[in-house]
Amino acid sequence: MTTQLPSLCELTRDELALWCQNHGEQPYRADQIRKWLFGKRVNDFNAMTDISAGLRQQLAHEFVIFSSEIATHQKSSDGTEKLLLRLRDGETTECVLMREDDRRTICISTQVGCGMGCVFCASGLLGLSRNLTTGEIVEEILRLDRLLPPLERITNVVVMGMGEPLANLPHLLKALATLDEKGGLGMSPRRITISTVGLPEKIRELSQVGKPYNLAISLHAPNDTLRSELVPVNRNIGIDAILAAADDFFQETGRRVTYEYVVLAERNDSAEQARELAQLLRGRNAHVNLIPMNSVSELPYHDPAAERLRTFVEILESSGVTTTVRKRKGADIDAACGQLRLRAASANVEPITTVSASSQNPA
Ligand code: SF4
Repeated sequence: MTTQLPSLCELTRDELALWCQNHGEQPYRADQIRKWLFGKRVNDFNAMTDISAGLRQQLAHEFVIFSSEIATHQKSSDGTEKLLLRLRDGETTECVLMREDDRRTICISTQVGCGMGCVFCASGLLGLSRNLTTGEIVEEILRLDRLLPPLERITNVVVMGMGEPLANLPHLLKALATLDEKGGLGMSPRRITISTVGLPEKIRELSQVGKPYNLAISLHAPNDTLRSELVPVNRNIGIDAILAAADDFFQETGRRVTYEYVVLAERNDSAEQARELAQLLRGRNAHVNLIPMNSVSELPYHDPAAERLRTFVEILESSGVTTTVRKRKGADIDAACGQLRLRAASANVEPITTVSASSQNPA
């Protein structure tokens, strides 16, 4: 029978220090325990050798280290690795490790499925099941960290996997905070990017948390008519309200906002649409990240033609809008976010396969 003990990953540094105190230990023991969990990557309480046998026993009596298990592990020829984690209730979530030069970037999910319904996204096809807990989000990070060799560390986190991060903000913030607290991964919030479809009140809430996280807004269209077709939740929000919230975020934090734009062949990649986008962002401290569509067999959207993409970039840049095109990672594995989970849901993915996988969500 599966154990129902809580995962140690659910506890913040303060909560673990309190647990230690309640068990007659000094609070600093929490940092020792976290050093083993985060820094030394141990998966067994018995390996925590500078902690007394009694405390290790007590920990094992009350917690497990991970509540999830690796259901599928895919490896791409470009070094990208993707995990499908099976959660305790049988749900699954996806997370990705990408390697480029010195950077070790991970992309994590915040929900099981997604309720935003973007028409080009595999994650939205099955709808939203539930939010991930703080511990489940931390487990994604630690599982990916354990794929790296001993001297390598995660350098960047992008919260762009399954789900709308700002719809699960309390659990996400608690999970991210645990990374830069003493005994965590020692990661600056400046290296963490949170992506959203654009929930204005939540963007303002994020600007008030007092940490310099980066904000990425998934725009995908230069006007409300098209955006409401591609991102249905836009019907209740509208681009103007999102841009106003993004401007407030910039005013409050001084952090430049990135606008993500998944480029769909013949839908949002024309020269006219590039001019409209440039008009929208001109004068703002904004950066555009174009993401050529990662084709998913279940969806009728495709990569843009190279020539159209080039023209789109030229129009934005000649209007003074800095633009990058995201490199495709993991093209030889289940590339789009949500694709692996979708496949698992329809065909029972076998445990721990190692084939070739993929990277972030278009959003
Ligand atoms: S693109 Fe992002 S917000 Fe849209 S359905 Fe997919 S996961 Fe949700």
